[in-house]
Amino acid sequence: MDEFELIERYFRGAGAPRDDVLLGIGDDGAVLALPGRQVVVVDTLIGGRHFPDDAPAASVGHRALAVNLSDIAAMGAVPTHALLALTLPRAEPAWLDEFAAGLGALARRHGVALVGGDTTCGPLAITLTLLGRLPDGVELRRSGAQIGDAVFVSGTPGDAAYGLRIAGGLTPHGLDPSCAAELRRRFEYPEPRVLLGPALIGLATSCIDVSDGLGGDLAKVAAASGVAIEIDAARLPLSAALRAAVPVEEAQRLALEGGDDYELAFTVPRAVAAQLPQRVAALAPVTEIGRVVAGSGVALRQNGRVRPFTHRGFMHFSAGGGR
Ligand code: ADP
Ligand code: MG
Repeated sequence: MDEFELIERYFRGAGAPRDDVLLGIGDDGAVLALPGRQVVVVDTLIGGRHFPDDAPAASVGHRALAVNLSDIAAMGAVPTHALLALTLPRAEPAWLDEFAAGLGALARRHGVALVGGDTTCGPLAITLTLLGRLPDGVELRRSGAQIGDAVFVSGTPGDAAYGLRIAGGLTPHGLDPSCAAELRRRFEYPEPRVLLGPALIGLATSCIDVSDGLGGDLAKVAAASGVAIEIDAARLPLSAALRAAVPVEEAQRLALEGGDDYELAFTVPRAVAAQLPQRVAALAPVTEIGRVVAGSGVALRQNGRVRPFTHRGFMHFSAGGGR
């Protein structure tokens, strides 16, 4: 199978059909008919670094798109078109079948067309570029948090960090197998908050997607907004599966420091906060976890004490980083 057969077989039909794709896969470039303002994002996944080398191929395909859907959602945009740059050690039909199925299913579910890409031979790496449309012409940013705002997070952060350990071979002692499977699924098949992001336009003052750890990602919002954020540890939404797996302090630590959640963290004016969970209930569960205050950085309120939260989340090129 050469490169051209591979593209035809696995990728031509993988995404959603869209009327605004005037020319898709097969030429030197794609031609799109796009109105208004677009958001564009790109993320790379490296085998052995962002996922275990032996991860199910469907999970790798799903995650390659999911991490980008999450960034698009954090900007308040609706995902539309993707470009896939794929580097593979070998063209293995079974792996490619599953990879394209995992990516394609998520793409079609969210109306994303795969309009082009690049295919090369080398160590496993996947770079996906995703476009999204801003329905109202304004985006969410990290920089708008105001003193007095309430801080929210969607879903149950921390699950994926523990799920990664399970995927890596950890057998949690005495944990119900259905909980272990659920946590593993949260790492392997994250569901980015595609519908919640655009719904937060006009409500949220700032937004970020939680990929490197909730505490560290909120520190980025605080820095961009010139404010401080205080988090109540006791209000962190912890899943039943995670609470069954580890003691509550460890679950809180995973929620704050673990990565790969692909949830949204955002701030809203106090006046909006009380009704917000109900208002977006059909789109995603959201929980108020803290507040925006004067100062800088993130502080954690735990057991009646307030202390600075200094864990900075995952970073490439830092000592101890390089995952
Ligand atoms: P070129 O030789 O001009 O670089 P390629 O042979 O790389 O073109 O690609 C041929 C066509 O297939 C192009 O439309 C390109 O966008 C598309 N393509 C290549 N690799 C992928 C991929 N992994 N997924 C989707 N489309 C791809
Ligand atoms: Mg060409």
